[in-house]
Amino acid sequence: MPELPEVETIVRELRKDLVGLRFKDAWTDWAKTLHQAGGLERFKKEIRNKKILSVRRRAKYIVLDIEGRKTIFIHQKMSGHLLYGKWVFKDKKWTSTIAGPLRDDRNNQYIRVIMGLNNGYQLALADLRRFGKIILVDDKKVDDLKEIRELGPEPLEISFSEFKRLFTNKKGRVKQVIMDPHFIAGIGNIYADEILWRANLHPISRVEHLDDKDLKIIYMAMVSILKSAIKHKGSSMDDYRTPSGTKGNFQNLHKAYHRTGEKCSRKDGGVIKRLKLGGRSGHFCPVHQVVK
Ligand SMILES: [Zn+2]
Repeated sequence: MPELPEVETIVRELRKDLVGLRFKDAWTDWAKTLHQAGGLERFKKEIRNKKILSVRRRAKYIVLDIEGRKTIFIHQKMSGHLLYGKWVFKDKKWTSTIAGPLRDDRNNQYIRVIMGLNNGYQLALADLRRFGKIILVDDKKVDDLKEIRELGPEPLEISFSEFKRLFTNKKGRVKQVIMDPHFIAGIGNIYADEILWRANLHPISRVEHLDDKDLKIIYMAMVSILKSAIKHKGSSMDDYRTPSGTKGNFQNLHKAYHRTGEKCSRKDGGVIKRLKLGGRSGHFCPVHQVVK
């Protein structure tokens, strides 16, 4: 599932590609994707000739504001990712006419939705597992969407004192707490593991045992890892690709996530271990990550 750095990478690229263009048409072979957009025919009618005014991110969601009173809200879910390029429909499938990863990488070939643009390019949703959703919502009701209204703050937009306040009276294991989107938005399994590795904390540490110094270290690790991951265009562990179809690079810089059996890069003699926590795999160094 794409986390904050992957979605931010997509949004930054799409902002350059899309703002100022107009939608012409839309196609899908998977009606469910557009169910909350009123179905394909309604969606086509609502977006036709509408100019794209802005592209932004909230948590793991992509928000396209278009002319008129509607906003397009995209939840990529497990394997969905937006692509920008050119495709033609032949032999019952869409094939990109742009040589390279858009055409050749299998992860970019599961095209479920195509939206035509007035410059001859298209915006596509590639989605192997078909859980992605495109929702049309009134501009004024974006913040009322159930996906949005209960979200915690954005990790790159809060100060340390605001971050610290979140932990007041909070209980639980630190990894599960920071992965809870109602607590803080956009951090999933990859970045939780990387943040805790950097912060020297074992994932099962309990937040009620952390002092201000520990919280400061988590905060600093969170900000620096998320920023670095955005700079490296996110982590392509499986399906995620940037809008031009290329992989992100941050997976090459992971210190803990999916590094089971490798020597800890702190050179502390530790070997990265895996544990199950709340049904998810956690990865950590048993030497420098301490339980609190
Ligand atoms: Zn270590």
